[in-house]
Amino acid sequence: MPETVESVFASVVSRNPGEPEFHQAVREVLESIGPALARHPEYADARIIERICEPERQVIFRVPWEDDRGRVRVNRGFRVEFNSALGPFKGGLRFHPSVYLGIVKFLGFEQIFKNALTGLPIGAGKGGADFDPKECSDREVMRFCQSYMTELYRHIGAQTDVPAGDIGVGGREIGYLFGQYKRITNRYESGVLTGKGLSYGGAQARTEATGYGAVFFAEEMLTQSEDSMDGKRVVVSGAGNVAIYAIQKVHQLGGRVVACSDSSGYVLDEKGIDLDVLREVKERRRDRLADYVREVPHAVAVSGRTPWEVPCDLALPCATQNEIGGAEAAQLVAGGCVAVVEGANMPTTPEAVRILGRAGVRFAPGKAANAGGVAVSALEMQQNAARESWTFAESEQRLRETMRDIHARCWATADEYGLPGDYVAGANINGFRRVAEAMLAQGLI
Ligand code: GLU
Repeated sequence: MPETVESVFASVVSRNPGEPEFHQAVREVLESIGPALARHPEYADARIIERICEPERQVIFRVPWEDDRGRVRVNRGFRVEFNSALGPFKGGLRFHPSVYLGIVKFLGFEQIFKNALTGLPIGAGKGGADFDPKECSDREVMRFCQSYMTELYRHIGAQTDVPAGDIGVGGREIGYLFGQYKRITNRYESGVLTGKGLSYGGAQARTEATGYGAVFFAEEMLTQSEDSMDGKRVVVSGAGNVAIYAIQKVHQLGGRVVACSDSSGYVLDEKGIDLDVLREVKERRRDRLADYVREVPHAVAVSGRTPWEVPCDLALPCATQNEIGGAEAAQLVAGGCVAVVEGANMPTTPEAVRILGRAGVRFAPGKAANAGGVAVSALEMQQNAARESWTFAESEQRLRETMRDIHARCWATADEYGLPGDYVAGANINGFRRVAEAMLAQGLI
């Protein structure tokens, strides 16, 4: 990191104490944009980095609700509106017990560059709550969402800030949030949330978009080296929305996903993960993944371990942040992995990225590889504004083109700065430049 950037980073750490995930995300970007800063002294004069690292607005609020036993519960809600240089703040909501300000800020910061990379007119934000929908009944989730929106509604809007889902926030939660927004404001403002159900303004292929997009990105990487997905042995972590549709797309493109995981461990199915069974176990019954082997007797459930010990050609971490550390990266290298493509946000630690790099494993950061979700969200906003709805084939085609464009932008930018094949530098520099140019043009705001 150049000296001036080092001092900006030190000030980010001291101004945001106790937020290691946010520091990690900032460091990763600052470490790779040096070449762009050297070419553009005007960025330093306008203090672009300092401004990018400081959210435009941060909202923290109480979320009181009543559980099924009539007890009052209190959670903490967040919305960090990070950067609106390119469009309304845009990014998901995460409901998970681990959520605190540092997690929301790391996700919001990543979102700035990810959203810029899509080439679409969307700024960046993120929100959530330290609430665990998995522990709650459907009625409790509804009451929580209603209370959460009772505060959030005053901060959002189709032209202001457009939340969507993330971990713990899927179609059910978005539906309850939308219903409450509509009730409070007396406005049917479709574009205020994305990830909506298809019956009330949702976009085709939004549910599939993050997982499909990550696999399209992986396919582009393989094509770049005159290879393809056909016959590839793939390991996926997670068993949620991103993982499920990543598995489906790998299978459609001729690869075979032999393992996937949840917080209890992983399952190994040498014949390829049976998606119908996985969805039945995880989505409908909301059970532990180990139940997969009851339905598929030739599969093996391995509890308390991660899937990275399974030899593979391609690894798709689709669960959560920092799930591949140094030890897991070493396992992937030993198992013959040639590429790691992040479906989740920041699942690979900096140490793991270094280990993969030294071993020649190609690495695609989440802000490029998982941008398909937010890209289709932007298409949902576009359809809502035009009161249109496109077909699944049309949406999927647009997603595929967007992922191809993002790959090309990363590749070309890395080349332009003399760092061929460095997707991290390509993604960070390209996203950063787009936001920096817009900020410069808009004056000191
Ligand atoms: N939570 C997703 C992400 O990390 C999607 C955000 C959105 O659709 O706004 O990009």
